[in-house]
Amino acid sequence: MAEIRVENLRKAFGDFVAVQDSSFTVEDGEFLALLGPSGCGKTTTLRMIAGLELPTGGTIRLAGEDVTYNRASARDIAFVFQLFALYPHMNVRKNIGFPLLSQGVPKAEIKRRVEETAKLLQIDHILDKSVSGLAGGDRQRVALGRAIVRRPKCFLMDEPLGTLDAEFRDVMVRELRELHNRIHATTVYVTHDQIEAMAMADKIAVMNHGVIEQFGTPREIYNRPASMYVADFIGSPPMNFIRFTAGLPKGAKAARIGEAEIAMPEIRSEVAPGELALGVRPEHVRFSDASPLRGAIYGSEYLGTNQIVTVETANGLVRARLPADRAYHVGDRVGLTFASERLSLFECGSGRAVPSALNDGALLRETHHG
Ligand code: ATP
Repeated sequence: MAEIRVENLRKAFGDFVAVQDSSFTVEDGEFLALLGPSGCGKTTTLRMIAGLELPTGGTIRLAGEDVTYNRASARDIAFVFQLFALYPHMNVRKNIGFPLLSQGVPKAEIKRRVEETAKLLQIDHILDKSVSGLAGGDRQRVALGRAIVRRPKCFLMDEPLGTLDAEFRDVMVRELRELHNRIHATTVYVTHDQIEAMAMADKIAVMNHGVIEQFGTPREIYNRPASMYVADFIGSPPMNFIRFTAGLPKGAKAARIGEAEIAMPEIRSEVAPGELALGVRPEHVRFSDASPLRGAIYGSEYLGTNQIVTVETANGLVRARLPADRAYHVGDRVGLTFASERLSLFECGSGRAVPSALNDGALLRETHHG
């Protein structure tokens, strides 16, 4: 297995820059998700790592070796486009062994590695069955077996669960992560689905128009978004933005929004007068009659374990994730309070987060609790 180190990676198609000076490291055994909407440069980044696309600039190192201009076949990488295309006329053993057969690996060695792989995936009892008669979960394990039997230095996967229906997707997300926990193969996984990325990855690179907006653990990205783009892309419903206009001195610990003085983590730099947004996750909003920040119930979604209640305020719509045991009525007036130590502050012009004590406070505690 191996570390992947990407430095200043760039790809232009004519005048269009698809990937702009990306730098990141996937440590040995780590699972990285490249996450972002369609067209943001995820696949192009992955194809450059695989050797299927030549970079316009930058370097790619695999296990310390500069492979930037090596052909794909000279990189010890498995590129998985689609996990589920099995050969229906072959049995499980032949399906799993096929990549080794086409590499010319001797028969006895193929047998040994297929059996070892099948054991790892707990499908060794069905090796001689035909794949066409298998249940969905077993078919997926066979497909995974075929991807991992070569034991390459790393895996690159491009939306491998893209065509699955929701139920199988959830199962495969769990299986892929459990498999990763067992084999610790360095993995780069492209997805536009934040839930897949959050559930599987050790690190996430959130991409936007060819740029990595934030690189961090799922917890860092969720709790401490570096930009409004990231805050909005991650989380369902996404982070609320409560917009207001102000300038703030370095060290400010509160923002005045209308009549309300809202406590927030101490900011570490001065903020020039302009449009700002307080960022608050729906689970950090509560209703309190005493709060001067008020609004009217706009709608609610009952989700069983909890409910999402939307409130219309003078500063825009605010969504709260609340216990499900109380019904709210459209038009009712409520006051809002926030978990002040969890608030982010953004400058709307640049979209960037203002550095604040949130960086060490709230998150440090989470790290301790594991
Ligand atoms: P998707 O999930 O839709 O594939 P993506 O984030 O993987 O999205 P890329 O496929 O990397 O995005 O494409 C990034 C941008 O580069 C897109 O605007 C795409 O149109 C453009 N692009 C990709 N390949 C080429 C090419 N061969 N020639 C010209 N433009 C390209």
